[in-house]
Amino acid sequence: MSSPQNDETRIAAAEPALRAIMRRLRQIMAEPGDGQDRLNKIVRQVAGLMVAEVCSIYVKRQDGSLELFATEGLNPDAIHTTRMKRGEGLVGRCAEIGVPVNVPKAQSHPAFSYRPETGEEAYHSLLAVPILRGGALLGVLVVQNQTPREYTDEDVESLQTTAMLVAEHIVSGDVAGALQDPSSSLNTTTRIVGEPMSEGIALGHIVLHQPRVTVTELLAVDPEAELERLGRSVIALRNAIDSMLKTESLAKAGAHRDVLEAYAMFANDRGWLRRMQEAVREGLTAEAAVERVQNTTRTRLLRQNDPFWRERLRDLDDLSDRLLRILVGRGGTAFSELELPDDTILVARNMGPAELLDYDRSKLRAVVVEEASAQSHVAIVAKALDLPAIGNVPRLIERLNSGDPAIVDGAAGDIHLRPSADIEASYVDKVRFLARRQKQFRSLRNKAAITQDGVHVELQLNAGLSIDMPHLEASGASGIGLFRTELQFMIASTFPRVTKQTATYREILAAAGDKPVTFRALDIGGDKVLPYMRQPKEDNPALGWRAVRLALDRPGLFRMQVRALLRASVGRDLRLMIPMITDISEFRRARALIDRERAVAVKRGQPVPERVLVGAMIEVPAILYSLDALLHEVDFVSVGSNDLLQYLFAADRTNPLVATRYDPLHVASLRVLKHIAETCVAKNVPVTLCGEMGGNTIEAMALLGVGFRTISMAPASVGPVKSMCLSVDVSRVRDEIDRALLSNETGSLRDRLRRFAETDSVEI
Ligand code: PEP
Ligand code: MG
Repeated sequence: MSSPQNDETRIAAAEPALRAIMRRLRQIMAEPGDGQDRLNKIVRQVAGLMVAEVCSIYVKRQDGSLELFATEGLNPDAIHTTRMKRGEGLVGRCAEIGVPVNVPKAQSHPAFSYRPETGEEAYHSLLAVPILRGGALLGVLVVQNQTPREYTDEDVESLQTTAMLVAEHIVSGDVAGALQDPSSSLNTTTRIVGEPMSEGIALGHIVLHQPRVTVTELLAVDPEAELERLGRSVIALRNAIDSMLKTESLAKAGAHRDVLEAYAMFANDRGWLRRMQEAVREGLTAEAAVERVQNTTRTRLLRQNDPFWRERLRDLDDLSDRLLRILVGRGGTAFSELELPDDTILVARNMGPAELLDYDRSKLRAVVVEEASAQSHVAIVAKALDLPAIGNVPRLIERLNSGDPAIVDGAAGDIHLRPSADIEASYVDKVRFLARRQKQFRSLRNKAAITQDGVHVELQLNAGLSIDMPHLEASGASGIGLFRTELQFMIASTFPRVTKQTATYREILAAAGDKPVTFRALDIGGDKVLPYMRQPKEDNPALGWRAVRLALDRPGLFRMQVRALLRASVGRDLRLMIPMITDISEFRRARALIDRERAVAVKRGQPVPERVLVGAMIEVPAILYSLDALLHEVDFVSVGSNDLLQYLFAADRTNPLVATRYDPLHVASLRVLKHIAETCVAKNVPVTLCGEMGGNTIEAMALLGVGFRTISMAPASVGPVKSMCLSVDVSRVRDEIDRALLSNETGSLRDRLRRFAETDSVEI
C-alpha cells in the first residue's frame, strides 16, 4: 500500500470538495421529489462542485446495457434514449472492469464510442466510476470536461464516494424499476464458462463465500459515535485474528498460519484505519467508510501488476468484509457460522487457500472462484482436496442467487445455473458413470501393478502440500515420487525459516510412514513466483534464472532447505533431487553443498539421516549428451517430462497457443525417453518419470514400452494407470513402438498406439 503520509496528504487536500458534495447530497436526499428529480439534482450539484461541464448517471438495465438516466451538460433529450451496449465505449468499459476509467483525451481513446444525440464531441476529458452496491454493479457515474484534464486521485475518490450514495438512491429511490424485471436472467437457466482448475462433476446448491454486507446507511448522524464504533470493531477484528492464530490446529498448519499472519499484518496497518477514520470525519457511517476505503484501495492495487499486490488485494477484500460483518453484528468469521447444505457449491469473488481449508470438506461439492486461475493457490488446494473447481469467471456472482441449484463440470469449466431437467438428467448419468469407474479403481488399491507378462510397475504420487498426503494411502501408490517443495513456499507470505521448513518436512514424512518420499529441491523461477522474493523481470523466464541456477547463485536459500530436510529425515533415508540440471558441474556443486551441510551437522554432534540419496532431474536436453557421466555420480534420476518436452519442442508449457502443439507421443519424445530409460537400466541407476504425461493411460503405456518401470503421477491417475498396467503385455507394446521407430515413422504415434490398445484389449 502507499505510505500513510502520502495518503494523509491526499485526503486533506480532498476534504473541501468531498465535504461539500456530501453535505449537498445529504440535503438532496432529505428534500421532497421523485427519484428522477433527485438524480437530476445530484448531477447538477456534482458537476458544479467538481468543476466539470458534464455529470451523467448511467443505470444498468436487465440486458446489461447502460441507459443514460440523468445528465447535466449533455443534451437532455438523450436521457432514457442513449443506451450503451455491454462493454461499449468508455462508460461500458468502466462497467466491464468495475474500476474507475480516467482519460484526459477521451475521443482519441480506442474504446471511445461517439453518440451524436448526446452532443458530447465538445468534451475531451472523462472520468467514469462504477456505481456499486454490495459488490454488484448498478451503473456508472461520469464527469467530463472540455479541456484535456487528468483527474486527480482526489477527484476519483470524491466521485467514488458520490457513486456510493447514488447506488443507495437507485435502489431505495424507485429509480430503476427495470431492475426488478420479473423476466430477469436471474431466474433462467444459464451456462457460464470459466477456466478448469480441478476436474470432477458436482450437482448442488450455491452458497456464497462470505456474502457481502450491503451497506444501506451511508451518512452519519453522529460522526463521533461512528468513530468510536469503527475503533471498537477494528479492535474486535484484530482480536479475532489473533485468537485464530493462537488456536492449536492453526498453530501447526503452515498454509493456514501464513495466510492469517498476512491478514494480521494488514489488520494492524495504521494507514488503513486512518483512512477509514478520515472517511467517517467527512460524514460517512463506519460501514460506508470501510466500503469507500476498500473501493479506493482496490483501485490503486489493481493498477499493480506485481502478484504480491494482487494477493494483498485479496487480504484487503477479506478483511473489509469481515470488518463489515462485525460492524453489523454478524461476527468476524462468517464461514464458521454458516449452516452449509450437504451439497454446497461454494462461489467466491476471490478466495485464499486457507479460507477454502476452513470449510467442512464433507459438505462441499465444488468451488467456483471469480478471480482465480488454474495456477492460483486456491486451485492447488482444490485439487489436493479432490474438489471440482473452476476459476476466471468474471461477473458470475451478479448472475446468481444464493441457494440456486447448479452443476459444475470441472474438466470442461462449465457452470450450469438453475439447470433444466434434461441437463440435470444428463449430468446425473455422467456422475453415475464416473462413480462406477472410481469404485472399480478403488478395488485395485491393494493390488500390485503387474502386467500381463509379469512386469512389476511402481506407481508413485506427485504431491506438494501436506493435504496431499492422505492420497498416498487412499490411492495405494507406493511412495511420493515427486514432492514439489516450492508449493509450501508459494502459499507462504514470507520466506519460511529453517525450523518451520523442518516441521513441514517432518509432517510429510510422518504421514508417508514407511513409504519413500522423494523431495525436489526448491524449483522457483519461470512460472513459479514467490510473492515475497524479488526476481528480475526476464523476457524468457522458462529459459531463465530458475531451479538449480537460482539455488547455486543463492546458496543460502538452498542450504537452509537442505538443513531442514536433513533434520526432518533423521532415522530414515533422505531422497533429494535437483531440478533442471543442464551441466554436470551444477549437480556436483549442489551435491557439494549438501555434503557440507551434512558434515556440519555431524561435526556439531547432530543426528543425520541414515543415507542421503541425491538425484538429478532430467529436464534439459543438453544433459542427455553427458548422460553416461552423470549416471556415474547420481543415486537416481527422475525425468521431468513437462520441462524436457517444452525444451525439446521449443514450446512454452504455459502458453496455450503452443503448449499442446507437440504430442508427448511424437517419435522425437519417444526416442529421447527410450534412450534415457535404456541407459539408466544399462548403468543400473534407478529412473522414474514424474511429468504430467505419466498420468495419462496411453502415455503411461508407451512409457512402459520404452523401458520405464516407475512412474509418478497425480493421485486421480493412479487407478486408471494401474488398470492399464494390469491389462497390458509390455513386450508387445515395446515391439509395436520399436517397429514404428525402426521403420522411421514420423510424427505422433498416438493413433497407432490407440489402435494397438484396442486390438490388444489394453484399458486406456
Ligand atoms: C516436470 O518438469 O516434468 C516436473 C515434474 O516438474 P514441474 O512440472 O514442477 O516443473
Ligand atoms: Mg520441471
